[in-house]
Amino acid sequence: MVVEQAEPVADALKTALAQFDAAADRLHLDDGTRAMLRVCKRELAVHFPVQMDDHTVRMFSGYRVHHNLARGPAKGGIRYNPGVTLDEVRALAMWMTWKSAVVNLPYGGAKGGVVVDPRALSESELENLTRRYATEISIVIGPNEDIPAPDMGTDPRIMAWIMDTISMHRGYTEAGVVTGKPVAVGGTLGRLEATGRGILYVTQELARRQGVPLEGAAVAVQGFGNVGSVAAQLLARAGARVVAISDMSGALYNGNGIDIDSILSYRKDHHPLREAPGGDHISNAELLSLPVDFLIPAAMEGQITGGNAGDVRARFIVEGANGPTTPEADAILAEKGVIVVPDVLANAGGVIVSYFEWVQDLQFYFWEEDEVNERLHKVITRAFADVAATAEQHGISLREAAMVLGVGRVVEATKLRGIYP
Ligand code: NAD
Repeated sequence: MVVEQAEPVADALKTALAQFDAAADRLHLDDGTRAMLRVCKRELAVHFPVQMDDHTVRMFSGYRVHHNLARGPAKGGIRYNPGVTLDEVRALAMWMTWKSAVVNLPYGGAKGGVVVDPRALSESELENLTRRYATEISIVIGPNEDIPAPDMGTDPRIMAWIMDTISMHRGYTEAGVVTGKPVAVGGTLGRLEATGRGILYVTQELARRQGVPLEGAAVAVQGFGNVGSVAAQLLARAGARVVAISDMSGALYNGNGIDIDSILSYRKDHHPLREAPGGDHISNAELLSLPVDFLIPAAMEGQITGGNAGDVRARFIVEGANGPTTPEADAILAEKGVIVVPDVLANAGGVIVSYFEWVQDLQFYFWEEDEVNERLHKVITRAFADVAATAEQHGISLREAAMVLGVGRVVEATKLRGIYP
């Protein structure tokens, strides 16, 4: 859990809707279906008090949004960030619907968020906030209804509090209400690393398909949290040269490759990358324009825009974050011949292993880590093959293909189920 971003991200919903509209045009969707899928079906806003350590009471606001449930229960993370807005949560919920469909999981899309900087709270304040937020949204979550997971600013410890709170209400342990839990309370082996590991598998598959050796390839990673730090570590172990990493404080560059393991131990004490040893300090903007083979934005939405896409010199972009590239940037990157593996495929490792965790919780039967990783590899490379085949068939980008595939599957389920009553 690393949170330093305070700016509201105004354009996430605009980006999500523009991506949907393009897919809807390509699929020739009728007006009714289009209108149904452009909005979130259920939006809960909650405002709740939290008892602070100094005995004062502070009010907080949060959301839990369900976009579409045609393919199964709602699934999506919970974000703790001072910049959270309802529109941002709507966009993230919509992306979860398409992502679950692209990798063919039996889930709909959801997302939650609380407007808070978790670093500004003590441990007990964070627990109070989490338990009260979980109680407020308990009317819409559950193993058959909606299964939250970690996102920016949340972690396994927070998932354990949510699981415990719901279990206290129900009167029995309800492990399957949330994924990304610690292994000791029904989490799965491999979940903590799953999104970063999925990025490794996707990057390996991309490199193989493009005939580019990953060994020695230059990689830059924006964002050094749960997703970015694991992706950097696993790519370095796979032989890539991770030449740049960044967090909100700044970026570190070393052309010979950064020693990721030593940076991870340096970061254990919450030191900012701005002061990290082992390389030169560059700005976050400079990281995005480095001449690397693979650029991995793994921070948040709206990072590669019409304003800076022209400066990108990477050959390939693998989207670790959700919505890091705006439609304006996409057009510029396509013109420059930069190949982008979209978020709904590239960062799906998290939801895939969350699905495995949920299945294990429902069965009370737990798998070995090798089995988790092998199954993750199988699901994500099969999804890559599906997306690449769609792209080839229609002569479109990987993003357009992933959207055509994901939206198409959701439309099929929505139509088969019909409109009730
Ligand atoms: P996190 O809070 O663990 O880490 C975020 C990191 O990004 C931090 O290092 C932060 O300092 C950095 N950051 C924020 N803004 C930045 C900026 N402008 N420039 C450089 N660095 C910046 O969050 P996370 O869980 O790693 O999530 C990161 C992204 O991945 C989000 O878009 C999230 O929705 C997406 N995602 C997460 C998961 C998951 O399993 N956690 C799964 C799929 C997608």
